Parts: sequence; structure tokens; C-alpha cells
Amino acid sequence: MTFVLASNNKEKLKELRDILSGFGLDVISQREAGLELEAEETGETFYDNALIKARAAAEYTGMPAIADDSGLMVDALNGGPGVHSKRYGGEGLTDSGRNALLLQKLEGAEQRGAKFVSCIVCFFPNGDIVSAQGECRGEILRAPRGSGGFGYDPVFLVSGGGKSMAELTPAEKNAVSHRGNALRAFEKKLKEYLSRG
Ligand code: IMP
Repeated sequence: MTFVLASNNKEKLKELRDILSGFGLDVISQREAGLELEAEETGETFYDNALIKARAAAEYTGMPAIADDSGLMVDALNGGPGVHSKRYGGEGLTDSGRNALLLQKLEGAEQRGAKFVSCIVCFFPNGDIVSAQGECRGEILRAPRGSGGFGYDPVFLVSGGGKSMAELTPAEKNAVSHRGNALRAFEKKLKEYLSRG
């Protein structure tokens, strides 16, 4: 069975592909499946948005589709930017602009706790859904560090390791990240689902 990855984000696709291939699943991107669509993320939760993306890709391709919806939840911002992480500060900002805005909002703040959250949804053409969520706890640094990863990785200090997410190798990031944790939980649920026939 081949699964379509319902994302156009190159870095995210690479992480999804690396981890899911490691589970022995065959995956292709939605672009490889001929789908250019960017589904509108109108949901209020990570689950709702992941479902919107996965369902759109499954309906278009007729194949089971896997989507990730993810974001950064900062304690001092009451869980923001959360589901709005991708467009925090408005459409015109780059990743580094968003990081600068976040550091500015937390200037002088002692409470810098945060977590990354990822929700994975697989939508099957028959309407069945398998989903799982994962988190990674850490804190927001006072200045960006590292050049790996994407998004908020340079400003996120991973709990326990002393390194920012952007200072980890891809394999190290996948081992501790919200996406890695969500996909490992997802793998178990998917295997249970598939074994039920
Ligand atoms: P979406 O899931 O496509 O709506 O976008 C999630 C947004 O959250 C991304 O554009 C990033 O800004 C942020 N994000 C999600 N996962 C990560 C990650 O692994 N590292 C850094 N930022 C992330």
C-alpha cells in the first residue's frame, strides 16, 4: 500500500518521508501524485487541520493520505502561536522574521517554556481515520542558534539536551521531535488498524 504525504513543505516532507520509510511504508508526496493543491487550514485544532489536508489529498488521489499539522505552543503566549504558527506575524514574514518577532514578544520574560506539537492524520478513501499526536518540550532561547531544520528550530532549546532543535542532525531531531514522537505513536496505531484487515 502506498501512502500520499499531504504537504508541500519541503523540510517537513523530508522528515515525514525519512521516518515513515524507516517503518517500511511506501510514501510519495502529493506533488508526485499530481496534486498541487494547498488545502485551506480553517480548523481550530491541529487535528482538524491535519484532517482537512489528509482528506483533500485522499479524495483527489484515491489513495490513503497522511498529513501532519504542527506548531509551536509558548506557555507565556497562552499556547500561541499554536495552529497559527505558519503565518505568525502575517503572510509577509520569513522563518527568521517570525523568530525575531517571537524573541521580541518574549523580551525580558523569565517564563520561556514551550512545546512543539504535531498531529498526524491518515485518511483512507473509505473514510477510515488513523491519527496520533506527539510533543517535544523545551524553551525559547534568547537568540537563534544553529542552521539545521526549519521554522522555529533555531529558537527552540530542546529539554534535557542543551542544544537548539537547529543544532541537531536530522536523525537526532527525528529521535526527539514532536513529529518523530507523533509518527512513532501513529505507526503502532496504523499497524493495529492494518492487522484488523
Ligand atoms: P503547518 O503544519 O503546515 O500548518 O505549519 C506548521 C508551522 O509550525 C511551520 O510552518 C513552522 O513554522 C512550525 N513548525 C512545525 N513543525 C516545526 C518543526 O519541526 N520545527 C520548527 N518549526 C515547526
